[in-house]
Amino acid sequence: MKREPPAATARKLARLGIRSRRDLVLHLPLRYEDETHLTPLGEAAAGVPVLVQAPVLGTEIAFRPKRQLVVRCEGLALRFLNFYGSQTRQFERAIEEGSQVRAYGEVRPGRQGAEMIHPRYRIVAPGEPLPSALTPVYPTTSGLGQATLRKLVLEALAHEAIEDTLPAALRERLALAPLEASVRLLHAPPPGADVAAAWRRVKFDELLAQQLQLRLAYRKRRARDAPALPANGPLLRRFLGKLPFRLTRAQSRVMAELLRDLAQPHPMQRLLQGDVGSGKTIVAAICCLAAVDAGTQAAVMAPTEILAEQHYRKFSSWLAPLGVEIAWLHGALPAAERKAARKAIAAGSAHIAIGTQALFQEGVEFARLALAIVDEQHRFGVKQRLELRRKSERAAAHQLMMSATPIPRTLSMTYHADLDVSVIDELPPGRKPVTTRLASAARRAEVLERIRAACADGQQAYWVCPVIEESRDKDLQAALDAFEELRRELPALKVGLVHGRLSPAEKAGAMQAFALGQTQLLVCTTVIEVGVDVPNASLMVIEHAERFGLAQLHQLRGRIGRGARASDCILLFVEPLSEAARSRLKVIYENADGFAIAEEDLRLRGPGEFMGERQSGEPLLRFADPVGDADLAEAARAAAEELLDADEAFARSHIERWLGARAEYPRV
Ligand code: ADP
Ligand code: MG
Repeated sequence: MKREPPAATARKLARLGIRSRRDLVLHLPLRYEDETHLTPLGEAAAGVPVLVQAPVLGTEIAFRPKRQLVVRCEGLALRFLNFYGSQTRQFERAIEEGSQVRAYGEVRPGRQGAEMIHPRYRIVAPGEPLPSALTPVYPTTSGLGQATLRKLVLEALAHEAIEDTLPAALRERLALAPLEASVRLLHAPPPGADVAAAWRRVKFDELLAQQLQLRLAYRKRRARDAPALPANGPLLRRFLGKLPFRLTRAQSRVMAELLRDLAQPHPMQRLLQGDVGSGKTIVAAICCLAAVDAGTQAAVMAPTEILAEQHYRKFSSWLAPLGVEIAWLHGALPAAERKAARKAIAAGSAHIAIGTQALFQEGVEFARLALAIVDEQHRFGVKQRLELRRKSERAAAHQLMMSATPIPRTLSMTYHADLDVSVIDELPPGRKPVTTRLASAARRAEVLERIRAACADGQQAYWVCPVIEESRDKDLQAALDAFEELRRELPALKVGLVHGRLSPAEKAGAMQAFALGQTQLLVCTTVIEVGVDVPNASLMVIEHAERFGLAQLHQLRGRIGRGARASDCILLFVEPLSEAARSRLKVIYENADGFAIAEEDLRLRGPGEFMGERQSGEPLLRFADPVGDADLAEAARAAAEELLDADEAFARSHIERWLGARAEYPRV
């Protein structure tokens, strides 16, 4: 076997993130096959792969039902649907030499006795000894067989020194097994060996590499310069003196955290988490004032035009009386006004700019951007988030990401280690809890009656139509149909409609009409999921609730219960319900707290899926599980800080060793 893998193999290995012998050593098995003992043919249980051995008696090519090679052995037939001529010859030689076939696979009853379909096999001399360790099965890629990979790994293990670079004190404190012994054991454990300690060591090292990488990125960005925005400016002081409401304790605490960051001459990198309705917007506005007081500008980005408009209105009502100039860049802006707004931003006469990501995409130039706020950041795509981040980094601006999607603490630690995290964990007082009801779609008439009664009482209602994944047209059609139908069924009500295909101006118009109470029932798709705030709306009906994800249902439901009245959320579902849909509806019915729902969501879907839609693009953990290994992750986080303080070179080599090619993965 050649020392260096040929180019084709190297390319395949690269797909697995393997570029060196050292990477091969850390390419650990997914599972094992037990080839350490033979199972007598008569004892092979159905569905369990076993190792059997038998003398070869003859070969034949059968044509029914398909062309195939049949190898008849003592008490067993092997069938190969795809085979080479060389295979036939190999078996024939075995017959001549009196060798036997040793095959690994499931034995099943066939037409002429026991058979194995496409087993993995080897020709062996009758008394050839069995391996003493389990056979590793490695993660692989197409065209790279287990046999080749095993050989490469074995060779790497023979030549590569596996140095334990973790400081001894840390190893002792956490009672970690030695690295070399752990790695060697995991590649070839004897049957029945206890591999838990070895995995624990490997997982710790991997989690440590991830934490080191994220904390290093954090420190690097934090070391840059940014304008210090002191918290004692005149505008900020005036605004705090006449706030429209009293801040909750959580809001005050978080405000202090943010203002402390902004006062530093280094860029803030903070994620502000707070459940829907927890009052993140005012905190964002306060931060903007710190920027304006310092003679700089702030940008506020929202994922949708509707939300950007709402921010514009709120910010204007709060800050315009202080003389703050706010530019609103939206899709429906006539060319001349757009030009004027951009000019005001470029000249610095606009202090705060509000818009969608177009704010950063259309080459809008800021005179002195010092703070970039991204609302509902999880709604931006990975690429957009990266772009936003790069742009605000280039401008040396402070960054505040806001999210209403609660992420369980365990995950937040592994995924957001390169950010500081603030949490508003309290709702403003006086909120009436939302009562959630589940109703089969068959009870539509009762639901309509409920809407009629609420609207007659001066309240307003949302009717949410589901997103149909396969087709945005169908999605739209569903909303249009629901709109027509509801108008017919509720002739006394003024019904509005808003969906993703309306022009920005139409959308804004429809939202505005609802916010002003000109429409009573708003038929909508999930465009209203994000941040929309109409306190007088106290009833929400979600059609086909079984099709929504948990986070989405929670966000939707958060649109109501914002006023003084008790609110109802009616989840209409269509039977039969899948097991998964039933579990989701149960969770949303039983829980009101976003963090509790996120924990349940995580439990139902697992960390990969849970983070998938929000954070895809995170460096993948191959061995550790951020939830199952939360205690290790916590230890790794603490160790990472210590090690970075003590020895950055160690940190870099540890990252390189464990993340290798993945270390450069774009961070969001
Ligand atoms: P979110 O965190 O979901 O973005 P918002 O900032 O939109 O929440 O706030 C939800 C509603 O609560 C808004 O109408 C806002 O003005 C109001 N609000 C925020 N903070 C308070 C508070 N401390 N007391 C009373 N009302 C508040
Ligand atoms: Mg919001």
